[in-house]
Amino acid sequence: MIEFQNVSKRYGNKVAVDDVSFNIDEGEFFVLIGPSGCGKTTTLKMINRLIPLSEGYIYFNNQPISDYPVYEMRWDIGYVLQQIALFPHMTVKENIAQVPQMKKWKEKDIDARVDELLEMVNMDPEQYKMRKPDELSGGQRQRIGVVRALAADPPVILMDEPFSALDPISREKLQEDLLDLQSKIKKTIVFVTHDIHEAMKLGDRICLLNEGHIEQIGTPQSFIDAPKNDFVRQFMGDQIKQTEWVKLGDLVTSEHHIDAHDNHLESYPTFDSEQRINEVYQALATHEAVIVKDQQHAQDALLTREAVFNYLSHSQEQAGEHA
Ligand code: ADP
Ligand code: MG
Repeated sequence: MIEFQNVSKRYGNKVAVDDVSFNIDEGEFFVLIGPSGCGKTTTLKMINRLIPLSEGYIYFNNQPISDYPVYEMRWDIGYVLQQIALFPHMTVKENIAQVPQMKKWKEKDIDARVDELLEMVNMDPEQYKMRKPDELSGGQRQRIGVVRALAADPPVILMDEPFSALDPISREKLQEDLLDLQSKIKKTIVFVTHDIHEAMKLGDRICLLNEGHIEQIGTPQSFIDAPKNDFVRQFMGDQIKQTEWVKLGDLVTSEHHIDAHDNHLESYPTFDSEQRINEVYQALATHEAVIVKDQQHAQDALLTREAVFNYLSHSQEQAGEHA
């Protein structure tokens, strides 16, 4: 759906993006990650022509982006920023309705769309749509930023570190929301972050940039199984290297135990308690939970996505304390 072909971007002599090529599939959650200054934002903004490229081609649905009128690109590609700029003097509804209004939607369609979007992120329309941004919490403002980008139903959404200014709890919640939302709307999402845990949690694939070039691109699992070089290993950090060896059985406590005959649980994928934590990442991208079979105790357990990521973030804090 989006294809980069030998794309470079120079600001004067400074090469910000250096001959990168990759494809993003339709419906994919694609994460751009890397240290500060590695070219993430530049790469993202070239997609909707906020930044012109110096060399190479970017194709959108097999057509060079230069063939599309600029305004059309901006409208048809949703964009969410780190510090989302909601218009302070406008209500939540007016903020969300921006692009639909520019596209001259009928008023009643806009009304219905605003309500629908607010409900999607669990904000009661009656309670929130007439509020001003300063009558919302940081997390709520960020939710509005996300749904505003979705308002006119664009096929692609670009997100530049949308959650990095939030406290860890709101951030976790919005990540969950976004995964949930993505499972419903199936948009192509290009998401920038510098946080490897966020990338592992959200991405179908991750593209790790360093000084403008691609170090590695692949599934979260592939970064754990086969980091390509020392830069990748170092970026992933010792913490993930260690947790990769943790057995699922070690995460299970009695509170996770379940009745093996409960039919509600049949849709969850099953793993053995001897399997490693990294083996469930993929499954947790599409399932809320996995079932862990313990051969010895014959006691099955349900490990939710939340439980696994809580475990990961907790062990990261501990690793940080020792560092
Ligand atoms: P990231 O988002 O990964 O932090 P950016 O894409 O913003 O990185 O920037 C990549 C590199 O290009 C950095 O070295 C940055 O200083 C440089 N850069 C970004 N924007 C400009 C600009 N408008 N003029 C000059 N250099 C820039
Ligand atoms: Mg940036």
